[in-house]
Amino acid sequence: MATIIDGVKVAAEVRGRAAEEVRELAAHGVTPCLAVVLVGDDPASASYVRMKERDCAEVGIESRDHRLPATTSQQELDDLIDALNADPAVHGILVQMPLPEHLDPESVIERIDPAKDVDGFHPESLGHLVRGLPGFRACTPAGVMEMLRAYDIDPSGMRAVVIGRSTIVGKPMALLLLEANATVTLCHSRTKDLEAVCREADLVVAAIGRPKMVDASYIKPGAVVIDVGINRTDEGVVGDVDFAAVEPIASAITPVPGGVGPMTRAMLMANTVAAAHSAAPRGQG
Ligand code: NDP
Repeated sequence: MATIIDGVKVAAEVRGRAAEEVRELAAHGVTPCLAVVLVGDDPASASYVRMKERDCAEVGIESRDHRLPATTSQQELDDLIDALNADPAVHGILVQMPLPEHLDPESVIERIDPAKDVDGFHPESLGHLVRGLPGFRACTPAGVMEMLRAYDIDPSGMRAVVIGRSTIVGKPMALLLLEANATVTLCHSRTKDLEAVCREADLVVAAIGRPKMVDASYIKPGAVVIDVGINRTDEGVVGDVDFAAVEPIASAITPVPGGVGPMTRAMLMANTVAAAHSAAPRGQG
């Protein structure tokens, strides 16, 4: 029987620490502020944005809501980002993805001031991660690392396999595990004999987007299994891991929902508070 890694609980702890820091900053007259930009009316994106704004309210972060119509032009979006970059009261900028087709997500990400890049997607943030320098880390992989810390799971010396090589999850995940001294293999859709590669691992992170793909045949007995996947299916939201099949052989496993998802949102709060700290004049924060 595996330890169930409770993302809801760890996320609450992260938000609690962030709230404490918000109170300290308030004593210096600084209120962390996150600008949330939502373009269009995709219901899933709107619901993510609402959850993030609720988290902000709980932690004491001011959230500024910028809802733009789906017809917004690149120029109009660029102008908004420029204005938010220039506004000293705004510490973090989040542009909810995906954007409508006619807008270029890469240029939007690159336009955000790296000092306000609380999503950790800007090339400068990713460059700092590669170089091992301080900077914003993408919230999902940072949340995974925080969960491992909370459960005293030290990746140092472990063989870790990350399945999925996206820029927002898989690649930064592999780099963070490497930074934590794991021996990392990064897998993807062209990996040969994925099951055998995964069976070598002490730690498997699944970030694929394929419901329940990772079954018991991928997992070495006693391995730690982190399921990043969020897949909406007829039976509700399920992960990339077949939880019922894998849980009996893993030593620790994250559930979906209630695992990595809440951590991603909590790390956004932590990053926003960190951005406010960095922006505060010396001695304030
Ligand atoms: P992407 O679609 O950007 O990347 C998926 C990756 O999985 C790709 O690298 C792809 O390989 C790989 N892949 C796809 N099929 C297979 C396969 N059969 N075997 C091996 N590898 C495969 O997804 P994201 O990284 O954005 O998201 C991954 C999952 O995590 C999704 O379910 C998403 O909803 C979820 N997610 C959850 C978050 C959370 O907060 N919990 C946050 C962000 C994402 P290739 O590169 O070769 O195409």
